Amino acid sequence: MTLLSTRARAVRASAIRDLLTLTARPDVLSLAGGLPAADLMPRERIAAATARALTDPAHLQYSPTTGTDALRAVLAAHESERLGRPVPADRTVVTTGSQQALDLLARTLLDPGDPVVVEDPGYVGALQVLQAAGAELHPVPLDEDGMCVDVLADRLAAGLRPRLVHTVSSFHNPRGVTLAPERRRVLAGLADRYGFLVVEDDPYGLLAFDGRPPRPVAAHGERVVRLGSTSKVLAPALRVGWLTGPAEVCAGVERLKQLTDLCTSSLTQAITAELLADTAWFARHVARVRTATAERAAAFTAAVAELLPGVESTSPTGGMFCWLTFPDGTDTAELLPRALTAGVGYVPGAAFAVREDVSAGGHAAEARCCFATYPPGTVREAVRRLASVVPVAAT
Ligand code: PMP
Repeated sequence: MTLLSTRARAVRASAIRDLLTLTARPDVLSLAGGLPAADLMPRERIAAATARALTDPAHLQYSPTTGTDALRAVLAAHESERLGRPVPADRTVVTTGSQQALDLLARTLLDPGDPVVVEDPGYVGALQVLQAAGAELHPVPLDEDGMCVDVLADRLAAGLRPRLVHTVSSFHNPRGVTLAPERRRVLAGLADRYGFLVVEDDPYGLLAFDGRPPRPVAAHGERVVRLGSTSKVLAPALRVGWLTGPAEVCAGVERLKQLTDLCTSSLTQAITAELLADTAWFARHVARVRTATAERAAAFTAAVAELLPGVESTSPTGGMFCWLTFPDGTDTAELLPRALTAGVGYVPGAAFAVREDVSAGGHAAEARCCFATYPPGTVREAVRRLASVVPVAAT
């Protein structure tokens, strides 16, 4: 007799989170986790902001469920600049990481059985919350220009009526690709026409290697909820994310957040507000992170081209991930134990398949590698270790 509810038993485990325990071994160079580089986190600046925040006891107190006024104002200004139009602070809800925003949105907007469109391969954290909310998932493929919106348009024309469409529009997790500008316009137009909400999950947009973050889908229409995060540009441990969207959605999310965690940490909100309000410093910091990350990406793709000549890699223009394809059909889940023995970890493509039951055929000869965690020399060493266990046919 199980102690768990039916709902809890139905929650899909994240193969990636399970894998992270294996790759955490000190002898393993892990390309598996989406871990931002620890050496690029602004520790001294965070320490100084923490010391300042602690001079005000309010920062150790509970704070409003929707977030502190100071942080919401800064986030609204940041989002207004990204969108090129004003985003009011009262349309901004601070969340405990953007993962919480995904969970609150799924629980706020979905009834069991509601159809939701997701990208395939998809962000596992989104697939988990959507499944936990009882959504019926409809995968749409991605190509080099992001979600295939023509496939989505065909499904809509054939009668599919999703309540939500989830997209990681820029520097996709796990696929690394970015939704093309024209497709962004089309997606926002489809949302208006068919009455669904787009959830634009965008933790990586600022990591555009050319310094020009793509124009958000939300810039093209009103039926878009945008999610942002400090995790990839400051530090995941702050656990500060946010959403912006229609007033009704913000109010619904606020009600559910009340019973979920009352509020996000007042202390880390104060730290984040100080760091983001110093726009000159923040711009310099982001430039430093993006330049270093671009060097790591270049080291990764060069090492793959040289050491894994038969393996195809995406050419990232931002973010943290490369997607490898083994044209000879190498099963990357089967390869993983040998890779770990050789001292390198990655995530097999099957972990990102939307339908677990078909995962054997879904993305089995593919893999996600995070190039952002280590300096270029270490990234190259990780690829060398991978090459040492890849069957000759693939190379
Ligand atoms: N969305 C995407 C696409 C992600 O890759 C991640 C983190 N891996 C998140 C949301 C959640 O990030 P956080 O909760 O740290 O903001």
